[in-house]
Amino acid sequence: MGLSARLVIDRDALARNFQALRKLAGGAETGASIKADAYGLGASALAPRLAREGCRTFFVATPDEGAELRRALGGGEADIWVLNGYDPAARQLYVDQRLGAVLNQARELADFAQGPTGPCALHLDTGMNRRGLPARDAQALIAAPGVLDNLDLRIVMSHLACAEDPAHAMNAAQRTHFMALADRLRPARLSLANTGGVMLGADYHFDLVRPGIGLYGASASLDVPHPFEAVVRLEAPVLQVRAVSSGESVGYGASFTAPRDMLTATAAVGYGDGLPRALSGKGFARIGQARAPLLGRVSMDLVVLDVTDCEAELRAGAPAVFLGADLTETARLADTLPYELLTGLSARPARVYEGAL
Ligand SMILES: *Cc1c(COP(=O)(O)O)cnc(C)c1O
Repeated sequence: MGLSARLVIDRDALARNFQALRKLAGGAETGASIKADAYGLGASALAPRLAREGCRTFFVATPDEGAELRRALGGGEADIWVLNGYDPAARQLYVDQRLGAVLNQARELADFAQGPTGPCALHLDTGMNRRGLPARDAQALIAAPGVLDNLDLRIVMSHLACAEDPAHAMNAAQRTHFMALADRLRPARLSLANTGGVMLGADYHFDLVRPGIGLYGASASLDVPHPFEAVVRLEAPVLQVRAVSSGESVGYGASFTAPRDMLTATAAVGYGDGLPRALSGKGFARIGQARAPLLGRVSMDLVVLDVTDCEAELRAGAPAVFLGADLTETARLADTLPYELLTGLSARPARVYEGAL
């Protein structure tokens, strides 16, 4: 298995997650958020499969991501929307690569209208106060929509701040606010839901949903159960197995002392691969089906695992597997989210793809 970890990415699982989201979204179109290189998993290696599964609308963060996606799709008819905004310095890239501009503030509307323009979307802020046209500016635009006359406005969107918490009052408040504004900008299509929004139910779906994390096998919530399948597993070869006697310590800082005689395995993965150092003393791997607790600190290239209960699997050469079906639990242990675990994976682990492109 070599001396380094590899990241195995299952395109069939991705495809099933897309179809599961589609089913949940009912009559709304299901797009795919594929920003940050498909949450670190490789947009070029995943988007063509999503397109084959019937995905026609993609969301990226930047024009460069959009251009790379257009290349990966071999041109094609898919709509690609640049969420972070409109950058007039990249005007030619939007035109050449047929990227849709998401306009977030008055200045972007003005810059965009200088043309030559293609399709655009309008992002309205409905309470998150991060990106999007502030409510006052949106009211002004609705009162004097002439600004939109020469624009090809396809989508009016907003973004939910608390979709991962179905009980949060902000969900309904944002939805109400969104409808009051966006309904007056039809015939543009309306879009509000990320993965969490899709799971909130039909009231949140409108015309187009834009899930990301669900495609990659997790949800925004660490607590609400979700129907998505694991897409990634980080496989680390076991480099060395040793007997550690009761009272001996393991790893940097000697932070773990063996309470009894134990069998340990040193595996080739560490924070240099993106496995958070915060998992020190808390994380675990799977070796076969068995759970192998992480002993002591995560170092840059290596971890040490308690393999007292998985001797047979080790003899068979099984790797130590991180993330996989344990992605959400691992995020909780590292005090983070599946989003950050995935996008935090470094370039070192080779990406190995299963399932057809
Ligand atoms: C990232 C993002 C999404 C996708 O969010 P998930 O929680 O990953 O489903 C949707 N819309 C916008 C505006 C985003 O920035």
